[in-house]
Amino acid sequence: MKKADKIYFGGDYNPDQWDEQTIDEDMKLFKRAGVNLAVLPVFSWAKLEPLEGEYHFEWLDQLIDKIWSHGISVCLATPTTAQPAWLSKKYPEVLPVDIAGRKRTHGMRVFFCVNSLKYRERAAAIADEMAKRYAHHPALAAWHVSNEYGTSCYCPTCQAKFRLWLKKRYGTIENLNKMWHTSFWGRTVYEFDEIMLPTELNDDYRFNPVIQLDYMRFLTDSTAECFENEASVLRKYNPEIPVMTNMSGYIRKLDQRVMADHLDMVGWDNYPAPTDPPYFVAMKHEIMRGLRHGQSYWLTEQSPNQQNWQPYNKLKRPGEVRRLSYQAIAHGADTCLFFQMRQSAAGQEQFHGAFINHGGHGNTRIFREMTALGEELASLKDKVLEGRIQAKAAILFDWNNWWALELSSGPSQDMDYLKLISKYYQAFQEQNLPVDIIRMDEELEKYDLVVAPLLHMMKENIGERITGFVEKGGTFVATMRSGIADEENRCIFGDYPGPLNKVLGIRVEETDALRPEERNMMELREAFGMREKSYACDFLCDLIYPEKAETLAVYGQDFYKGIACLTRNTFGKGKAYYIGTNPSEEFLKEWVGNLCADCGIMALYEAAEGVEITNRVSQKADVVFVINHNQEKAWVDFKEETLLDLLHQSEVSGKVSIESGDVLVLERK
Ligand SMILES: [Zn+2]
Repeated sequence: MKKADKIYFGGDYNPDQWDEQTIDEDMKLFKRAGVNLAVLPVFSWAKLEPLEGEYHFEWLDQLIDKIWSHGISVCLATPTTAQPAWLSKKYPEVLPVDIAGRKRTHGMRVFFCVNSLKYRERAAAIADEMAKRYAHHPALAAWHVSNEYGTSCYCPTCQAKFRLWLKKRYGTIENLNKMWHTSFWGRTVYEFDEIMLPTELNDDYRFNPVIQLDYMRFLTDSTAECFENEASVLRKYNPEIPVMTNMSGYIRKLDQRVMADHLDMVGWDNYPAPTDPPYFVAMKHEIMRGLRHGQSYWLTEQSPNQQNWQPYNKLKRPGEVRRLSYQAIAHGADTCLFFQMRQSAAGQEQFHGAFINHGGHGNTRIFREMTALGEELASLKDKVLEGRIQAKAAILFDWNNWWALELSSGPSQDMDYLKLISKYYQAFQEQNLPVDIIRMDEELEKYDLVVAPLLHMMKENIGERITGFVEKGGTFVATMRSGIADEENRCIFGDYPGPLNKVLGIRVEETDALRPEERNMMELREAFGMREKSYACDFLCDLIYPEKAETLAVYGQDFYKGIACLTRNTFGKGKAYYIGTNPSEEFLKEWVGNLCADCGIMALYEAAEGVEITNRVSQKADVVFVINHNQEKAWVDFKEETLLDLLHQSEVSGKVSIESGDVLVLERK
């Protein structure tokens, strides 16, 4: 597989919007800014194939040669995210039907039915034309298929394919009825053609949630097939060129883990809201890195300045793009790419930030910041590429579990899986305790500590695997709503938390749902150094009855005052904890810190609050990133260790002061 020898810096360039003179000026500005990669032609299907089967690639041939003559590589995108108008007009079946049953009209992007055979035929055809022409072009660094997949569709094609998908999954209608438990409310189906898509034409609550769950799996599989339809064509011409797509981050509607299994590397677009705290942005990087078992990934898009589609589009503050870029690299990105290189004259993203704004020159704050960033990244050469984060703690995250939890009616309408995951992640990240976010099929034995918040759905033998992990000496943490259901979201009979009962040494009989304004208390008896303190808790309260486990905390209020809310079970050589409620941030921070200390997991260096530290290790180097997210100066203490400051080519050791928003990139000896 072709590998990069530097951090790719640049981004989406849309040359079909520009005349030759503008393109020539852009080339000069790109060189000045240190751009070494352009992503194109993402939206150029209309220009490349103005009539069915009539291709016009000459302009793109010239453009790629011109870009390459300036020493800039290309990541070539199949332009299939926006089909040309003739295609929608001639073959209206390519247009999707939305959840309300409305046929969409032409004019958007990502507005095709992923199951449309005609769409797939034309998409594969243009991918074939591109691969034939460019698969061996020296400028080609990677293939980028389509753009930000994620369109749901409820058209007749999808309806028919959904039934076939179900037939493949369940075999017989009898088995489907059993797995869907259709005897509830007498929803038995006799033939596959009686199964309807879960559209809004059917009231959400009255529709069996398992149908919605299977629809989301089906949509994911259909989207992965749609990706593969083009990727397989590209790979045929030159298997050495890596193929990916730019994912819209961790979006709920597609199981990105399934998508990632089809990619040679993960690519994702990072658009934090101005109000997102640093830990939340870091968590998204962690989720994306975990998709391919910790492999480094491509940051395919971020905005050089303000976006245009947030409710209030704050300017990126001086230094903010640099800080966010290094945060991405610190968590595993091997590239630093942006949308967009030149700000468009009109259209939906007319006011979205760009390297080159409407002024058309390089004399702007953003262009100067980008140029400085480009220079710094070039100085790092290939030092950080393919470097991995070496975490001994992991948080388990799974899309099927996410869907099942939130599709279930009860116990609380406030169920928000991502929010709960982020709360646990925050407790690690804000103490710089290295943690991976892992897939359910990840090898648990790689870790000393595994935390699985809200592990509602038991699949892939996870119960057995966790039991084995603890038996061999691992530390495991489960929370409320664990071990409840199987892969079809059917409750597992026997006491909760089902397959985790034995390892946790408890049974959970009931779960109370608190209103948003209600609180209970966790009265801590003993856990690490946290003796006899009270902490607030809310949301859900599992009533835990320890069987073999010891009680570490009990509820302080309500009729279940005195009943266990935190337990520890010694099992084999390991320990398994159960937190039956949603504890305060204060508790989690302290508790996770102590739990890590107990497992021998420490922060690499001590630092002031708000200073983020990670390190990426490869055969080439061990590189440490220190990022000060504070509004004021802060410190980090390297003690006796001497590190090489790669951005300033000087040595650092001891207690070092770091400016507000500044970043240190250091090589360990
Ligand atoms: Zn469809």
